[in-house]
Amino acid sequence: EETRWQRQLREQFPIVAEHPESAYLDSAATSQKPRAVLDAVQHYLTTSNANAGRGTYPWANRTTELVEETRQRVKRFLHDPQPGTSGVHFTSGTTEGLRTVARDWLVPYLTDGDEILVPHADHRANLDPWLEARLLLAERGVDIRVRALPYQEVSGDYDHRALDGVVGPRTRFVAATHVHHVYGGDMNVHRIRAAVGPDVPICLDAAQSVGHLPVDVAQLDVDFVVFSGHKAMALPGTGAVWARNGRGPVFRPGGWQGTPNTAGIVSLRAALDWLDAAGPDRIARWTTALTGRLTDRLRHLDPYEILGCPASLAADSALPAAQRRHGIVTFRHRDIPSDDLGFILYSHGFMVRADSLCQAGTGEKDGSVRVSLHVYNTVEEVDRLLGVLESLT
Ligand code: PMP
Repeated sequence: EETRWQRQLREQFPIVAEHPESAYLDSAATSQKPRAVLDAVQHYLTTSNANAGRGTYPWANRTTELVEETRQRVKRFLHDPQPGTSGVHFTSGTTEGLRTVARDWLVPYLTDGDEILVPHADHRANLDPWLEARLLLAERGVDIRVRALPYQEVSGDYDHRALDGVVGPRTRFVAATHVHHVYGGDMNVHRIRAAVGPDVPICLDAAQSVGHLPVDVAQLDVDFVVFSGHKAMALPGTGAVWARNGRGPVFRPGGWQGTPNTAGIVSLRAALDWLDAAGPDRIARWTTALTGRLTDRLRHLDPYEILGCPASLAADSALPAAQRRHGIVTFRHRDIPSDDLGFILYSHGFMVRADSLCQAGTGEKDGSVRVSLHVYNTVEEVDRLLGVLESLT
């Protein structure tokens, strides 16, 4: 039954359906788009395209309405119980979203002597803005201390037991990641909340979780959620920042800053409708099953090393959800450089990430290949990939 459900979803992606000889395994970079999203954009652009927030005629009013409706849609998707349209800010992606939180909210929020905790081995987009914030503050004579979230290299999770050692009375802010873009594991942010207490704002990079698994802001108990629409079925150049009620003042409704990406915002609304209809929990079960299948066999193939995934943590349906890989498996071949491996895989029709993964603290070439899956990927694709990987041992 799951296979039939998945086949129906897969057929809704024109680029996937039209290229049966290829397998797109790079969804962590950006997702493919279902027909409903393409249709919504086409419909908008051919019926009511105009600028937002300043209209005296129906197309402009409809555009404004669509943008405001999308704010509500984002809140509903993230299970924010607060009514209204405030607290959602549209961006071009996670990078711009995190920078916006850093510059527009964090900088004015901090005072001399404050400390912030940030990840040093996650995506660079979730490190640079916080370092930049420190520099901006220093220029104003405000000294803050940036401390590193402790990290367990092997399992690809934060070292939650070491948190007590870095959290102190001056800890004013934490930046963390929901699902790691190299290791694919859930970073257990609820344990960070437990360590810092209820009053310290937490900003979550949800680039790899939105669209892949349920993201519930009340349950996660975080203050900012930043994500990329384009990794969650919406158009390129889309993303959003959600802020908990009261975490302003940047995220006021109607705070128009130039012309927004209206077609992208319309696509985001359609994408979130599509994802909710498909069911984020069902999508998560599908992709963790595929990554489980991949890692279960890959870890027994001698020349391969799976990053952040020792045998004991291999994706296995018997493990608690937090320890499973959410659609991402990164690995190295002992003898074949990642560029060559990427090329070989592409010659068999597999599109994977085989250059830098933008991980903070690593070089431009980190020698690994990342396979990332979404709901349109199939068991058959994973088995075919394993066949090719096996032939290289
Ligand atoms: N954070 C994480 C965890 C990511 O995986 C990515 C994209 N690879 C980003 C941030 C940056 O996202 P964007 O390219 O949409 O700015």
